[in-house]
Amino acid sequence: MGRHKMIKGICRLCGQNTDLSFEHVPPRTTFNKNTKYTSVDFEDYIKIKNPLKEKPKGKIKQGGIGYNSFCKECNSFLGANYVPAYKRWVQGGFEILKNTEFCPHKYLIKEVEPLKILKHIISMFLAINGDWYLEAYPELSDFVANPESQKLSDKFRIFTYLTKAEKLRYISHVAKVDAALGTHIKCSEIAFPPYGAVLTIDFSGQIKFLNDITRFQDFNLSKTTNLNVNMFQLPTNTGLSPLDYRKKSQLELDIEKNIALSDELERKYNSTNGSKETSS
Ligand SMILES: [Zn+2]
Repeated sequence: MGRHKMIKGICRLCGQNTDLSFEHVPPRTTFNKNTKYTSVDFEDYIKIKNPLKEKPKGKIKQGGIGYNSFCKECNSFLGANYVPAYKRWVQGGFEILKNTEFCPHKYLIKEVEPLKILKHIISMFLAINGDWYLEAYPELSDFVANPESQKLSDKFRIFTYLTKAEKLRYISHVAKVDAALGTHIKCSEIAFPPYGAVLTIDFSGQIKFLNDITRFQDFNLSKTTNLNVNMFQLPTNTGLSPLDYRKKSQLELDIEKNIALSDELERKYNSTNGSKETSS
């Protein structure tokens, strides 16, 4: 191996300050072995006026996306306990993806282990968030570290959707303003084909088109089941905005509108500044 270096830090699962090994998110066996991706700083990204037309400059990386988030033991623990179950779930979803942006799917995945899937999804959120997250929300790591635990604190919920992940999403904890609800949703989101997942904190509403799978915790650890899934396939045309499933055409319209608006504001600003200068 050797391509991925160990780094020192706090393991997001056991909390030890130790060498952290590279963890693929999602697991490398779920088609994240040779993922090529562009690594862009958020600051560079927000300077771009129209992200659909201008590509942010970034480093092209290869070899799968991941994070140095877990110690070697915790990494192996996840691999042994949850990754096989997660892989099955992923394979089921891949088979039915279509080339359409909004599309409801009904499908059956045989012999899945829902509790393990839920635990693995939460481990991915631990991986992409900083170590402050572990300290702020120890219930999450407790739930993942103890395979038998079926009690996730009800302040957390996990939502999923199907997606081709037009733009991959690795969004760590943010407070997303929901204009329709007039409130904030504290959340974190990962989108990598065939699924997107959202972890919300202190949120009790519904999210349109998304499936709440928090109840996967009701299945016993060793319980395998045939799961009838009824899930929407949603587009992720932006990489940095959580809970944003606008179609590409809508996104283009909105971007054009924003550019026009900011141009107008700029003109107004310049003209009022100009008139001040002439009047003084
Ligand atoms: Zn650890």
